[in-house]
Amino acid sequence: MNEFKLLIDGQLVAGAATLDVINPANEELLAVAPRADIAQLDQAIAAAKAAFPVWSAKPVRERGALLGRLADALEARNDEFARLLTLEQGKPLSEAVWEITFSTDIIRYHAELDLPYEVLNDNATRKVVRQRMPLGVVAAIVPWNFPVVLLVLKLAPALLAGNTVVAKPAPTTPLTTLLFGEICKQILPPGTINIIVDNNDLGGALSSHPDVTKVAFTGSTTTGKKVMSGATSTLKRLTLELGGNDAAIVLDDVDPVEVAPKLFVAAMMNAGQLCLGAKRIYVHESQYDRICEELGRLARESVVDDGLKQGTQMGPLQNKAQFEKVKGFLEDAKRNGKIVAGGEVLGRKGYFVQPTIVRDIADDARLVTEEQFGPVVPVLRYSDVDDAIARANNSEYGLAGTVWGKDLDRAFCVAAKIETGTVWINKFLDVSPDIPFGGAKQSGVGEELGREGLEAYTQAKIINMAK
Ligand code: NAD
Repeated sequence: MNEFKLLIDGQLVAGAATLDVINPANEELLAVAPRADIAQLDQAIAAAKAAFPVWSAKPVRERGALLGRLADALEARNDEFARLLTLEQGKPLSEAVWEITFSTDIIRYHAELDLPYEVLNDNATRKVVRQRMPLGVVAAIVPWNFPVVLLVLKLAPALLAGNTVVAKPAPTTPLTTLLFGEICKQILPPGTINIIVDNNDLGGALSSHPDVTKVAFTGSTTTGKKVMSGATSTLKRLTLELGGNDAAIVLDDVDPVEVAPKLFVAAMMNAGQLCLGAKRIYVHESQYDRICEELGRLARESVVDDGLKQGTQMGPLQNKAQFEKVKGFLEDAKRNGKIVAGGEVLGRKGYFVQPTIVRDIADDARLVTEEQFGPVVPVLRYSDVDDAIARANNSEYGLAGTVWGKDLDRAFCVAAKIETGTVWINKFLDVSPDIPFGGAKQSGVGEELGREGLEAYTQAKIINMAK
């Protein structure tokens, strides 16, 4: 295994301390990561601040060309990144390959974008244009479920727009981010991007630092609220991608055999540790038993194992704390519902939980009202679709959701009433670099990806000239 280093001011440096990184598939020590102290965090922010004038003054096409080289370098090492991602995060290798490939696509998409002056008005008496200025130092803070893609969808637009960055991965998945730092060191000017690792102790200092102009944060709603309050002192710009409790609504005209495998993937991808995953499935009473049966069959047939093993469909939970949390949801499910399949942890080393389908569970059970972030999914019965919509909307969250039905007009009408940032109809996780996503209600503030995601790293300025 590599020796991992922080990236501060263009130098790969040791941390003031170290941090053990555990492989969630066997609970063994995977690597020792460098851990920054507050002085190193300050150095990283100072380096980003010092690099900003030169980086932001470069023509956008020059910054884009460097991003293009970053994409090429990541693509060339896809296998190495994917393997390391599986080792530290736990996901099956095929899903890790997807994450690295999608990350490359995101960087490449941004490499081609432009930020031209927009003419808002041009007549005999005046010309009014909008300029997009970079903001300054961006703090990019990322959780452990998709460490690479959630990093690059902040980095790429931030850098293209002319900002400099201090990035911080989650303490349980720092390795791929540090490896990415090695690539950045070879391609980007010193200080443009800095990477520090903490043990959940520097996020507050980073996100409230007076020299940080914008915080791009993905994580839980609880931490997102802390970031928001820390941002008030200097009125920082914020993009917050937070928790979710996404509902899938299954209409009465579906073919249960056709739809169940798609629902299963929506609920179980990344062992359920997916912000946009289906966390509650509402099924019309006419289809309820068949769908529960099919989901149960799929759960029993699922291959749960080390993500590096060929044929593994679901890996472990990423860390011990999440494993313990999901065990609590299993207990809740047993008390308040009927287990169709699963219901236990695997009796072996590693944070493995059987994919679990729960039926006949009350709407006020914890498994229904909270974000479980694990492979334990409640299936709820409804008879009236408006009631299903109301129950789906009865949540403080509003990230995404899905609707499943043959009659597309009807499915569209249902989707239109769901209070979330995204709704997919008859599909799941159709994400691409040009389509923005963001959370409604307490699932977030602002959007990532697409034109809107890029503009979120800029300050609009109007130049209004008399003729
Ligand atoms: P978390 O909020 O505990 O941690 C996220 C990151 O914030 C980590 O890097 C952590 O070190 C850092 N952090 C901790 N305290 C901080 C503070 N006071 N200030 C700033 N940063 C701080 O979240 P998690 O448990 O690691 O991740 C899971 C959560 O992330 C789930 O709720 C999930 O839904 C959410 N998530 C959302 C999206 C989205 O796009 N909306 C995507 C992925 C995950």
